[in-house]
Amino acid sequence: MEDWILGIPTPVAMALIALIGYFLGKRNHRPVSAEQAYARRELKRAKAIVKQLEEISREVRRNLASHQSSIAHFKERIVLMSSHENETGESWQTLCEEAERMLSPTMRLSAQIANAYDEVRQQANLLMTFTESRTDPLTGLSNRRALDDSLESLFAMKDRYELTFSLCILDVDHFKKINDEYGHLEGDRVLQEVASLIDNCVRETDVVTRYGGEEFVILMPSTDLAGGLIFAERVREAVEQRLKVTVSGGVAQASNTDEPQTLLARADSALYRAKSRGRNCIFCHTGDCVQEHPASDSSAATLAHENAEELLEEVRSLEKMLGQRESDKAASHQQKQAETV
Ligand code: GH3
Ligand code: MG
Ligand code: MG
Repeated sequence: MEDWILGIPTPVAMALIALIGYFLGKRNHRPVSAEQAYARRELKRAKAIVKQLEEISREVRRNLASHQSSIAHFKERIVLMSSHENETGESWQTLCEEAERMLSPTMRLSAQIANAYDEVRQQANLLMTFTESRTDPLTGLSNRRALDDSLESLFAMKDRYELTFSLCILDVDHFKKINDEYGHLEGDRVLQEVASLIDNCVRETDVVTRYGGEEFVILMPSTDLAGGLIFAERVREAVEQRLKVTVSGGVAQASNTDEPQTLLARADSALYRAKSRGRNCIFCHTGDCVQEHPASDSSAATLAHENAEELLEEVRSLEKMLGQRESDKAASHQQKQAETV
């Protein structure tokens, strides 16, 4: 073999560095069960390492083949020479054994690489199963099980680091109608569109889950109620503009007295109000009461805008009338003066 690092063949050294890096990196992370985001990152990393190991083992195999053939050639020559020069036979025998020894460490290292490769592949499979059990197959989003894990971990971070976070529930309006009118397949396709639109609106640190049939829950770390409302309104507007359905939403910020179920229940009660208000709008639970997000009341906003326009128009025509009256007055005054003269 041509390239060696610290007495180890280069590909083998590369493989060992990759493995050491992987396992050191792994120790610095929180446990796998803590968050799906963590699992995704781990999976990506494991996959990259498996790919790297595949390349390395291919190269090791290639190098080994050429190494073995040159050793075999070397042995042949030694055997030939020893048959011609019997008196030095013993030292030739020693050389043969030396050649065997040359091969054995390379073989051993190659077996080690193969073992490491299997181990990493096993890790990747485990992570794959882990991720699949927490993923909704229709939309590719996290499922309820993953949401439970994420909520638990966010509440732990809130308690320990006073992390602020908000939760938003979005529910597709009159979704049953879509299924009834266009069929379930089209319904599924619409759900995928809604899911991907929500996923494109969030930050990388947010967690988007399909909570139920046509309900989505979004967890927003480091986001207060006002921020959560801005997000929910942005999604509502985007769905209204781009898709053939609308969504209603409920937002709540995690409080000191909350636990996962109460936070979900508060956001759900806000969603319930949004539905009874007429849908396609966002409500929030402030901790004390449920309120509507003003900007989301698009019909009210349009109405207010129209009213303002009408008022302005009336003021303008009044101004016009007053102006006309003033000029009429001035004209009749001038006429009277002229008559007196
Ligand atoms: P609302 O505006 O009050 O939310 O009315 P809605 O029709 O959206 O709500 P409802 O809860 O009455 O119905 C939800 C429907 O969602 C019922 C079910 O047929 C449909 N649904 C649930 N899961 C799926 C799914 O995976 N695929 C499809 N195509 N439809 C689903
Ligand atoms: Mg619905
Ligand atoms: Mg629903």
